[in-house]
Amino acid sequence: MTLPAIPGHGSTLVVHDTASGERVPVSGRDGTATMYVCGITPYDATHLGHAATYVTFDLVGRALRDAGLTVRYVQNVTDVDDPLLERAARDGVDWSDLAAAEIALFREDMTALGVMPPDELVGVVESIDLIAAAVRELVDAGVTYGLPGDDTEGEDLYLDLAQADSFGSISRWTREQMDLVIRERGGDPDRPGKRDPLDPLVWRSARPGEPSWTPAGLPPGRPGWHIECTAIAADRLGLPVDIQGGGSDLVFPHHEMSAAQSEAIEEAYAAAYVHQEMVGLDGAKMSKSKGNLVLVSRLRADGIDPMAIRLLLLAHRFDAPWDYTDAALATAVERRERWLAGLSVTEGPPAEPVIAAIRAAIADNLDTPRALAAVDEWAQRAVSGGPGDPAAPGLLARALDRLLGIRL
Ligand code: ZN
Repeated sequence: MTLPAIPGHGSTLVVHDTASGERVPVSGRDGTATMYVCGITPYDATHLGHAATYVTFDLVGRALRDAGLTVRYVQNVTDVDDPLLERAARDGVDWSDLAAAEIALFREDMTALGVMPPDELVGVVESIDLIAAAVRELVDAGVTYGLPGDDTEGEDLYLDLAQADSFGSISRWTREQMDLVIRERGGDPDRPGKRDPLDPLVWRSARPGEPSWTPAGLPPGRPGWHIECTAIAADRLGLPVDIQGGGSDLVFPHHEMSAAQSEAIEEAYAAAYVHQEMVGLDGAKMSKSKGNLVLVSRLRADGIDPMAIRLLLLAHRFDAPWDYTDAALATAVERRERWLAGLSVTEGPPAEPVIAAIRAAIADNLDTPRALAAVDEWAQRAVSGGPGDPAAPGLLARALDRLLGIRL
């Protein structure tokens, strides 16, 4: 996918890094920036929270490119994991068919929203060998221990967090905060025999009725959740990646554990950890378990233009939680119409100042509301009439496409 060319270029993107708590520049190395964003577990349709995440990192990619960098972007798909297997069993469908169908719907939603596809979308199933190699590296480093499972002959392998010196440095959470969420975020703190209730599973030995693989040097089984990302990021992009991205519900345990595993095999995981805050509905985080989802596919089926959905997302800062409302959607629909009216004039106010304002706002920790306000003002002046520049509407339309992913 190529982006429309416009004159000039953006400045270095500065973005909030969860691990340091500071805004850090993303400069890449040798002209290239690497970005790894945690992908979906494909068992249900894309909701606005997911869409916010992938639109945010799409903007990051656009800003890095506009600043003159080459971007290498990899996203994983957790195409074998407990929630997917449970949903498939509940619905009486094959887990791999369910995954394939949901991945197809996800891609369709992303395309509609103008999200540029990552260079690679890497599934866990296709990556078993390289993930298993990472598990063996942990075993060889002496930082794992085994526990006998029920209904299995092999052992489940856990990371021994007591040997992970930097554990806690990504989230900077207290132990109490960690203990509060570990159970609902894929952990198994109550399992007997664990050295630390937080220790993450890195390899689950085969259970009857569950998919399993038999890579060399490990018992038949399948990978734990966190090690898949450590292994895929290392294999495809090399460590440390410039940006590890995802939703803020991945700060702990997922990114904390991914980093701990990486450092256990002596490699720093990421230069910056960037997180999209949660999108809620009526004061509660949007989540499958609560059933309070606003689905992208539902909005599209209701006739909402996908660019209005994108404008709804861009109207909110990525680093602050927000609640979906019908009123906010109506505002986005109306904004799209105003922009369209502005871009339809035969001559308009000069585009260069507003393009500079968009670039400055995005480079400043993705200040999308400020970028949108600059375009609002231009559109208002354009429809007010008066002599102008006949090239301005076309130039601004290309800039909106290139910098914001808004194609009207
Ligand atoms: Zn991940």
